[in-house]
Amino acid sequence: MTIPTKKTSKSRTRRRHAAWQRVAMGKLAQQTTLTTCTNCGAVKRSHHVCDACGYYRGKQVKTIKAVKDTVLDA
Ligand SMILES: [Zn+2]
Repeated sequence: MTIPTKKTSKSRTRRRHAAWQRVAMGKLAQQTTLTTCTNCGAVKRSHHVCDACGYYRGKQVKTIKAVKDTVLDA
């Protein structure tokens, strides 16, 4: 094992981490598949309960609070 000759600067470290973050976010975006909800037509992740209405495969699975409905109407 050799000893690093120079201290890695803050900017160099942060630049390296930022590059990795960009790669990770790109991969995450590719993994996520978005579809439209058959009940309300909102954009939702495939094979997940709809966040807007709480339906999954034509059935009410989750009750959505009334507070969220008022936000959607506005
Ligand atoms: Zn829905």
